[in-house]
Amino acid sequence: MNEAPPFLEIADAFADAVEPAPFPKAVLRFRNQRWAEAVGLGHLPDEDWARQFSRFDPLLGNLPRPLAMRYHGHQFGVYNPDLGDGRGFLFAQVRDEADKLYDLGTKGSGQTPWSRSGDGRLTLKGGVREVLAATYLEALGVKTSKLFSLVETGEQLQRSDEPSPTRSAVMVRLSETHIRIGTFQRVMALGRGEDLERLVAHVVGHYHPDAEHNDTSKSCVALAESLSRDVGQMIGQWMAAGFVHGVMNTDNFNLTGETFDFGPYRFLPKSDPNFVAAYFDSQGLYRFGRQPGQGLWALQQFAAALSPLAETDDLAQALGHYESVYQQSFRDHTFKLLGIAPTVLEHDVDFLASFYGWMTKSGAPWHQVFFDWFCGGESAARARRSPNAEYYSASDFGSVQGRLSNFEPDRPERLQLEYFQRETPCTLLYDEIEALWAKIADTDDWSAFEAKLQEMEEMRLAYGP
Ligand code: AMP
Ligand code: MG
Repeated sequence: MNEAPPFLEIADAFADAVEPAPFPKAVLRFRNQRWAEAVGLGHLPDEDWARQFSRFDPLLGNLPRPLAMRYHGHQFGVYNPDLGDGRGFLFAQVRDEADKLYDLGTKGSGQTPWSRSGDGRLTLKGGVREVLAATYLEALGVKTSKLFSLVETGEQLQRSDEPSPTRSAVMVRLSETHIRIGTFQRVMALGRGEDLERLVAHVVGHYHPDAEHNDTSKSCVALAESLSRDVGQMIGQWMAAGFVHGVMNTDNFNLTGETFDFGPYRFLPKSDPNFVAAYFDSQGLYRFGRQPGQGLWALQQFAAALSPLAETDDLAQALGHYESVYQQSFRDHTFKLLGIAPTVLEHDVDFLASFYGWMTKSGAPWHQVFFDWFCGGESAARARRSPNAEYYSASDFGSVQGRLSNFEPDRPERLQLEYFQRETPCTLLYDEIEALWAKIADTDDWSAFEAKLQEMEEMRLAYGP
């Protein structure tokens, strides 16, 4: 980058310089070549890559030292001022050919002032799960951060939720920004009005230029509206993709509405509003059906953090855009994943009610339904050969199918692609991840992991932009 990394504008008040941990080993397990090329890092040979993304020597002209970010946040509804990057840091900022700015941020790179009693490490299994989730969501067209790199680091970790000792890794995430709702909450809680203003100006300037305004309060309100739209869009896409994030804490919402921080996530096996991803979410606060409401709740905390700078009523009004953007996104993404073209609102909404009502009642395997009926009525013959066929011959499916046939397929030529000749779609269910991890854990066999990523690439091309 020819310029100074933009985050340096605010780093003095929002981050601490830290050292990466020295790792005994660096074995490359995943590199995201497509995105590496997009940000000008595709040329690195594997050996250099593994060294670069485990030792984190500064990139030329980039951040001189890694920066652990300071933030607070609500975890399961409870405010926690003891957060911050406890096992990660911002390593560098890069731009793509269109000059769009991205962060390279780590997870598992060592302890920081914010580690509390934690070891600052990431398990290899956790890293594998992150690679799979981000790649799968991207293939489904969901707005998400990207997994950039995963390097195994040769340490033995103790974890209560994995058979231990367990293998270690360090990952790098490519995301538009690592600034999160919790970053705002911290300066608000500490009463640092000047820093809050600087943060708003930084975020508006680099990520929400539409919210630019001479008047700070107007800028805050416009920012709240802009983020509401981004988050509404993201969660609408999650709900159509059957994605359960699992930990919708306010430190896990970044300032451009990208999905990130994949811990105990799951994809739905079948429609179930009460499906909970995290074993430690005993109340089901972040269960599937609560995700849209929790998105709004996180935005309300964002508005509260901005309240020293703008009128509460104006901020509340700005969040009023969330609901309609969410609805629109849920509708658009359902249609995208079914390969059919939306029509008029009334028609589409009637279809969504019928379709998802049947999904929940029948308990049909979620991703198989979308796969079988890709391009709607065009696929009736394919659907009859599906492992799901019995669901489609049941009488209560008739009215869903009737409605489906009324929509025009969107680019039906895609049905000729290799991907749609399969019997079953590429899925990422919990048991599949456990099975591919078992091969890695037992015999260091990475073939099932590689094969799954290859399937996801075919799927990405099939769904297209
Ligand atoms: P997360 O659940 O990944 O969003 O993390 C929540 C908080 O716990 C963040 O402040 C993390 O940096 C911190 N944290 C999680 N795991 C560790 C660890 N192994 N060592 C240090 N801090 C951690
Ligand atoms: Mg987090």
